[in-house]
Amino acid sequence: HRDTRVLRDYIRTIPDFPKPGILFRDVTTLFADARGFRMAVDQLLTPYAGEPIDKVVGLEARGFILGGAVAHQLSVGFVPIRKKGKLPGAVVSQAYALEYGEAVVEIHDDALKPGERVLIVDDLLATGGTAAAGIELCERLGAEVIGCAFVIDLPELGGRALLEELGYDVHALTV
Ligand code: IMP
Repeated sequence: HRDTRVLRDYIRTIPDFPKPGILFRDVTTLFADARGFRMAVDQLLTPYAGEPIDKVVGLEARGFILGGAVAHQLSVGFVPIRKKGKLPGAVVSQAYALEYGEAVVEIHDDALKPGERVLIVDDLLATGGTAAAGIELCERLGAEVIGCAFVIDLPELGGRALLEELGYDVHALTV
């Protein structure tokens, strides 16, 4: 039989995680399936065919899994943006607002060179706060963010509108 599943069919929604009322999009089921995972990586790259990309930047943690595979596919290097305190070398830090309080993300200060063209990858775009902080870090190192690619966009949370208003290309595979 021909496998007719589309990307969305591999993503599971778990109610009340991590808090009551939240519908958590779980991509572990997508990652665990060979066909689903390849589909995700291939589709993340589709709009960037023929565009020069120097580095893939992945956002902790699921952006590492996707971004690593995307970087391998492009034969370019991978750079992690991590939560505060995880990277061993000298870092640049960026704070951003959460629903309650704030978070800090970091990048090694020598991970990107001025003028490098980077693609940012993560699993899900919600308010856009995490991605905007990631963009800021790349730009503080002098790199150029040529796109932000996500598996899932939750447009009602405003992330796409925010990033597009700032002038960035947003690519998402499903809502
Ligand atoms: P934002 O900063 O509000 O856009 O939230 C996006 C970040 O939160 C990403 O790093 C996602 O991995 C994570 N995130 C938020 N909601 C979900 C979800 O339902 N499933 C998986 N990750 C999520």
